[in-house]
Amino acid sequence: MTHGCSRWANILLIYARKANNLEFEAVIGLEIHAELNCATKMFCDCPNRPGDEPNINTCPICLWFPGAIPRFSQEALEKASLLCLALGAELQPLSAFDQKVYYYPDLPKGYQLSQAHLPLSRGGAIDITDENGKSKRLRIHHIHMEEDVAKLMHEMEGRLPISLVDFNRAGSPLVEIVTEPDFRAPYEAMEFLKALRTQVRSVGSSDCSMENGTMRADANISIRPQGTTQLNTKVEVKNMNSIRHVGDAIAYEISRQSAAVQAGEEIILHTRLWEPDKKVTLPMRAKFEGPCIPDPAVPVIELSQDWIEKMRSRLPEMPAAKAERFVTQYGLTGEEALYLSSDKEVADYFEALIRQGIAPRTAMHWLTTQLIPAVKDRRQELSNTLVTPNRFAVLLKMLSQDEINANAAREVLVHLFNSDETPEAIVIARGFRQVSDLTTLDSLIDKVLEAQPAAVADIRSGQDKAMGFLIGQVMQASGGKANPKIIRGLLDKKLGTVT
Ligand SMILES: [Zn+2]
Repeated sequence: MTHGCSRWANILLIYARKANNLEFEAVIGLEIHAELNCATKMFCDCPNRPGDEPNINTCPICLWFPGAIPRFSQEALEKASLLCLALGAELQPLSAFDQKVYYYPDLPKGYQLSQAHLPLSRGGAIDITDENGKSKRLRIHHIHMEEDVAKLMHEMEGRLPISLVDFNRAGSPLVEIVTEPDFRAPYEAMEFLKALRTQVRSVGSSDCSMENGTMRADANISIRPQGTTQLNTKVEVKNMNSIRHVGDAIAYEISRQSAAVQAGEEIILHTRLWEPDKKVTLPMRAKFEGPCIPDPAVPVIELSQDWIEKMRSRLPEMPAAKAERFVTQYGLTGEEALYLSSDKEVADYFEALIRQGIAPRTAMHWLTTQLIPAVKDRRQELSNTLVTPNRFAVLLKMLSQDEINANAAREVLVHLFNSDETPEAIVIARGFRQVSDLTTLDSLIDKVLEAQPAAVADIRSGQDKAMGFLIGQVMQASGGKANPKIIRGLLDKKLGTVT
């Protein structure tokens, strides 16, 4: 169990103890915003690059000038549809945009275009493994599209606090995934978000990075006495920017509500913010929300069955199917296959190694225990490191053909990160080539045997342990470049220990 897990287990334990005493269970639903990685905004041709210098990606449509006519982006529709299909949702033949009316400085036109009444899709689900190792299906109620609002920035000008508005994000294409209240524990919400991220990334519709703000999750949490089925007043928690924060915030909120009910307080419907530094949720001023009225300018979206099937045919192999294939095709364990297939980049890298003739087990082992940790240490991505699948495969081939040993392979790997020399050139230049030459090894072994009479005597009297020691001594004498398999063979012959 990793450090993070034990910390998590502690929180769960505290929660479980409290909940058990009070006999409450939690009812949790999620609302997840994912920003579609389209080239343009949803209703104009401005670049969809919210992080650019403030207010340069704007036009009369996304500055929301009166009279500007929105033009709905076909790319946003396609990416949103692929996302829905990836989550097993049913695309609706008819969907439409409404004006979600509210006033806030980040929304000067006074309404946000969103699909309030006729969403793009209904249904869908994600299967997770719960804390008890049981498979659990968490259902999705619907998925709708909407435009993002502008971004407020609060700064100081001298001693004067000021607020600035950046319209680069205004009109960015979003989808909102609204789940059923099927979750009973923080762990389930975290597993759901991880699986959602994997599935959405695999269709390429969104980066789904909570850290970079391209995925945001709100949680609706209520509690009820265990064994009852009513839905009580819920509290919404916003502003969580990592999957761990979602779990922490839900756990905190369950404890807080349980204590409040126990103390005879009434839970009232409101919104709270997660404060990661203090590890608490705090009440937030609600913004005024008005009615949702059909928008007259954006045409309704009609999807034909042909179009839906065309989208479906564009779905890539989904992670669960890929994991199954990795088990049957490459003989991996279920756990290994699940790990490799949950990240498309990792899965593609693995299969690129296989195509270069590397054995699946070797590829799996070196990718997960050496390359991925090294890439992470260097804060790189598998897709942009100098260690391409071709170069890594050459290294692994030298290893499996006994040209270098495992220690040397690890050292060559370090060099591969820093230079574009070929692995062969690195091996030759740094003298990593394994010593397999029998005459050289023979004389090395003779010297070691002469220097270690006690170990030799041990082996002759049947104590096998000394063999490992002698192999180590010969390895050391060779500067770590000897081939351990050949040393073993030679030692066996010299000491008469061949069975
Ligand atoms: Zn624009």
